[in-house]
Parts: sequence; structure tokens; C-alpha cells
Amino acid sequence: MNYEQFFTDQIKALKEEGRYRVFADLERKMGEFPKAINHYHGGEREITVWCSNDYLGQGQNPEVLNAMHEALDKSGAGAGGTRNISGTNHYHVLLEQELADLHGKEAALVFGSAWVANLTTISTIAAMVPDMVLISDAKNHNSMIEGMRHSRAQKLIFRHNDLKDLEEKLKSVDPARPKMVLFESVYSMNGHIAPIKEICDLADNYGAMTFIDEVHAVGMYGQRGGGVCEREGLNDRLTVIQGTMAKAFGVVGGYIAGSKDMCDFVRSYGTGFIFSTSMPPTVAAGCLASIRYLKEHNEVRERHQERSQTLKTRLIAEGLPVMDNPSHIVPVQVGDAVLCKQASDMLMDEFGIYVQPINFPTVPRGTERLRFTPTPLHSDEMMDHLVDSLKTVWDRLGLKFQKAA
Ligand SMILES: *Cc1c(COP(=O)(O)O)cnc(C)c1O
Repeated sequence: MNYEQFFTDQIKALKEEGRYRVFADLERKMGEFPKAINHYHGGEREITVWCSNDYLGQGQNPEVLNAMHEALDKSGAGAGGTRNISGTNHYHVLLEQELADLHGKEAALVFGSAWVANLTTISTIAAMVPDMVLISDAKNHNSMIEGMRHSRAQKLIFRHNDLKDLEEKLKSVDPARPKMVLFESVYSMNGHIAPIKEICDLADNYGAMTFIDEVHAVGMYGQRGGGVCEREGLNDRLTVIQGTMAKAFGVVGGYIAGSKDMCDFVRSYGTGFIFSTSMPPTVAAGCLASIRYLKEHNEVRERHQERSQTLKTRLIAEGLPVMDNPSHIVPVQVGDAVLCKQASDMLMDEFGIYVQPINFPTVPRGTERLRFTPTPLHSDEMMDHLVDSLKTVWDRLGLKFQKAA
């Protein structure tokens, strides 16, 4: 076999479909978020980032940075080992206590990323609980899907946020078999929010444990940033609450929170936890500072929601096809992979606006979109410029406008 030819052909296929990924080469500039420098063929230019998952600008919060500088000077660069073999730094212990408190749970466990947290936790529980059946929302994130696959447990998929279908799936399983319902709180590509209480009620009725991914909600929802479960007073209804420190908390790392024994079980059997070096002390210190900051600064969340609502209202008033949802996510439908990429390129090249095209397989074909994530640091002027530029791009590419309501 000509291996090189195989790789080349696979790449060519992606390009032909218009879904070959090109990374924007960015230089984030301390103190200027959401502005950044874009290095491109032939030069560099200042742009405004409209698609960052640093939802609240915590990546540049001076309190977070000070904590990281201090930890660097105190403890050095790396953790020095896996958690079991010399890699548990005091910062890790404090961070897990902080996370347990954030979610009103007995314990928490930190991983290198939320992708690893999902893969490890789901695969470990589902592989070890005998005869487990997994019941999973159709729009669950890749990391949850990989965890289910890796477990080799039986899997049933219920229609996205559809309680009737969930109940049918639950009903179809032998009542004696152990079950786990897996879902997210905020779905990041369409901004939908799950009916968490109702899902937990059904899970209870059918004796299932519950696993929620709050990656796109932690830091942003709830009085202290504990996510939608905190906002709705449901922390104690979930067996596992999973989250990230890479998005609203602005640093990196994933975690789960739950009972002491559940966390101890994953700590003791989860290979993605056991055999990987723990995060650097600097990172743990930064996460800790960010979580503590957001627990006490609800005004950041209020401003975030206001910015998001304002952008939605303004885009809708101009007839741009915002995909309606109750969260902070602002998706605008294009519906074609090639046009979506063209719109994104035009915004970047001509208007200094950076928004990544979202194409298959992240979203279904025919629903390609631009996904805006306004932060508390996006000004009215930035929004004026965005709305005007989008109108121009829509006109030029002949994209569909919606009748303003
Ligand atoms: C981004 C994301 C993850 C992975 O989080 P990382 O910390 O970036 O690895 C998990 N779940 C969902 C829903 C995500 O969007």
C-alpha cells in the first residue's frame, strides 16, 4: 500500500467537501481580550475574536494570573508525576475541595482535560458495573461517545432533549439491569438547555444513575457559577456532575464531582486518571483562583447574559437567522459548508472579525453555522461593527435573511 497516498486522498476528500479545517494563527494579547493578533500569510493584523470559549475573559483576569505567577515561583513548572507517584501537589488537593464545594458534592476529581474526564469516568463506570445499559442524548459531545464506546456497554440513544423518547428507552430495558442516563446541561452548538429535573425524575422512576456534562455552564450559570444544576437547585439529583476549567474558568483541565465513593472508585480504577501526569501546580492554582473569583462575582454572569441577549436581539432585528435558544450561545445558520467557510473568511479578511465556521461532523450537514460567543468584554462598538459586517457578507454571498419578528 502507498501510505502517503492514502493520507493525501483523505485530506483531499475533506477539502472537496469544504470541511477541511484551517486554524487561525492567533496571538492573544494580555489585557486586550477579545482583541488578538492574527498571523496570516504575508503579515499580521488585529482582529476581534467572536468565537472564544473563554466565555468570561477569565484567561486574562489579573487575580488568576497572579495566582499562576505565584505558584510558578513557589513550585516550579511541572507536577513531577502521576497523582499516585509524587504528582499530588497541595494545589490539586485544594482544587478538588473547591470543586466539590462548587457543586455541593462530597468530593471531586481533577483530570488533564474534560475530554479525558468524560472518557475515563464513563468508560470506567460503564465497563465495571455489570450488565450496564447507557441511555444517551443524541447530541452528546464526542468525549461522552468515546467513553461509551470504550466501555463496550450496550447503548441506547434518545432524541435530543426528548423526555417521551427517553422514557421509552428506559422502559425498554429490563428493570433489573443497571442504567445510566447521560446528557449535557447547555449544548454548545445550538445553545439548548436540557430539562434536567424531568430527566432526573425519569431516571429515578426507572432506577438509573445520572451523568451530566456541565462544561458549557460552569462558571456562567448559578449564583456561584455552579452551572445549571446549581441554578435550578438540582445538584443532589445527579450521580456525576462533570465540568471543565478550560472554558468559562479560562485555564485548562477537567473534573467530575459526586459522592466520596464514586470519586474514589474512578480515582482507583480509571486508567485515564491513574496513568497520566497531573496538571502543573501553576494550572491548578490558576483554576482555583478563577473558580473562587467567579463564586463571588455574579455581576460577571449578569453582564455576560446581557451581552449575549443584546447581540441576539440586534441580529434578529436585522433579519439574520439566529437559531433561537435560552442560553448564552448565539448560532447563526448558514446551511452550507462552502458558504459557511466563505462567510467566515470574508469576515476575517475584510472586517477583522474572527468567527470559526462550524461544519459537519460537529453539526449535521445542511445546518452549518457561525457560532458567536459574546463575552462581558465585547463592547457596543464591537457589536455595531459585527452586525454591519454580517449584513454586508450576507448580501454579498446571497445568504437568506429572515423576516424580522
Ligand atoms: C469542550 C467540551 C468538552 C471537553 O472539554 P476540554 O476541557 O476542552 O477537554 C467536553 N464536553 C463538552 C460538551 C465540550 O464542549
